[in-house]
Amino acid sequence: NIVTRFAPSPTGYLHIGGARTALFNWLYAKAKGGKFLLRIEDTDRARSTQPAIDAILTSMQWLGLDWDGDAVFQFERAVRHAEVAHQMVESGHAYRCYMTHEELAAMRAQAEAAKRPLRVRSPWRDRAPEAGEKPYVIRLKAPTEGATTIVDRVQGSITVQNSELDDLILLRSDGTPTYMLAVVVDDHDMGVTHVIRGDDHLNNAFRQLPIIKAMNWPEPVYAHVPMIHGPDGGKLSKRHGAVGVEYYRDELGMLPEAVDNYLLRLGWGHGDDEIISREQAVAWFDLDGIGKSPSRFDLKKLENLNGHYIREADDARLAKLVAARFDPALDGHQLTLLERAMPSLKPRAASVIELVDGAQFLFRQRPLAIAAEAEPLIAGNAQPLLAALHTALDALDDWDTEALESAVRQVAEDAGVKLGQVAQPLRAALTGRKTSPGIFDVLVLLGREESLGRIADQIK
Ligand code: GLU
Repeated sequence: NIVTRFAPSPTGYLHIGGARTALFNWLYAKAKGGKFLLRIEDTDRARSTQPAIDAILTSMQWLGLDWDGDAVFQFERAVRHAEVAHQMVESGHAYRCYMTHEELAAMRAQAEAAKRPLRVRSPWRDRAPEAGEKPYVIRLKAPTEGATTIVDRVQGSITVQNSELDDLILLRSDGTPTYMLAVVVDDHDMGVTHVIRGDDHLNNAFRQLPIIKAMNWPEPVYAHVPMIHGPDGGKLSKRHGAVGVEYYRDELGMLPEAVDNYLLRLGWGHGDDEIISREQAVAWFDLDGIGKSPSRFDLKKLENLNGHYIREADDARLAKLVAARFDPALDGHQLTLLERAMPSLKPRAASVIELVDGAQFLFRQRPLAIAAEAEPLIAGNAQPLLAALHTALDALDDWDTEALESAVRQVAEDAGVKLGQVAQPLRAALTGRKTSPGIFDVLVLLGREESLGRIADQIK
């Protein structure tokens, strides 16, 4: 049975790359009927924070990436990690190293002089441990001969000579486990079968595997996913999207399904499909579809997808999202109006922010403040048209699209102008702006009294 996990370090928000890693793990587990686990790697006590943990959990929930069982907190498992380190000493796969800082510095200086990377092989590797209380670290007795091969599901088969590996520290002299040990022990104890993560961890896999082999534990399947780059091919910068998932929700007004769909397509493909629903993604997702080259972040594409999902989204849901951004809060009547307006607002909005902007006219106080760009539309020649419109609309028995449309057309015809020349001042008077949903939708949404009042307000 397949078990995947997402293992974020809570040192900051959940960024777009982490969200994609979580999504791939979630999808793979769902696609295979397995489990998706969450582990908070909070062993770096100085940099791990509660707000970061909260941000990660909230962002995952928002993206619909629910995890099975309770989140595992790595720091709480330190005793277990130490236990494994000691077990490895007993089985001869690790050793107590009493090297001093000075000895280590000398080793480093030697490596530097020879212009080769420092690969620690301690003299204590083959010595009997000291008796007594001398401080020591526990080092892995890494293999020195032969080679280690990983058949990565994304990167293919990769081989590293074991002479390149070093005797990494498993347990520090203060008894705390290192990150490399903790990851391996936790993955094993959590029953993780597939490690899907960023390819910045590929090197770590070669350092983690000897620990797994030493413990005689099953090797996980690895899938190291290429990084997300900026639109220019360089490192993804803040300006180009390297911000927390919350930013996409709060500042850009994105829907979670749009972010999910975008992240899925960013590094994974199913033919030419761009719009992929959750259900389709679960049905189709496999590791084989993950691309081998880094992907480029394209905000425009994400915005287009968001526009698509906005148009698809349920009106009541959108009305709630939009209403949440109004201050003071909308009352029940206004919320209903907002929901009724959604079909007119949706086609011209690519984000919740744009919906909020488009909805402003519904709730503005009379007399409307007219935007500078709309001022000329109600001045001069437009004045007699507004007066004629007021008279014609006031005379209507029915306030529906059909009646409104024929009345406005009649006003245009009588004045000998095109419909647009009447619609423009009417729009400016009703919304205070140059652009808005279709003018007949606006009239219907505002209703007779409000519409006539707003028109009258602009007749000087
Ligand atoms: N905690 C690591 C990170 O946030 C991930 C470790 C792993 O997936 O093995 O980059």
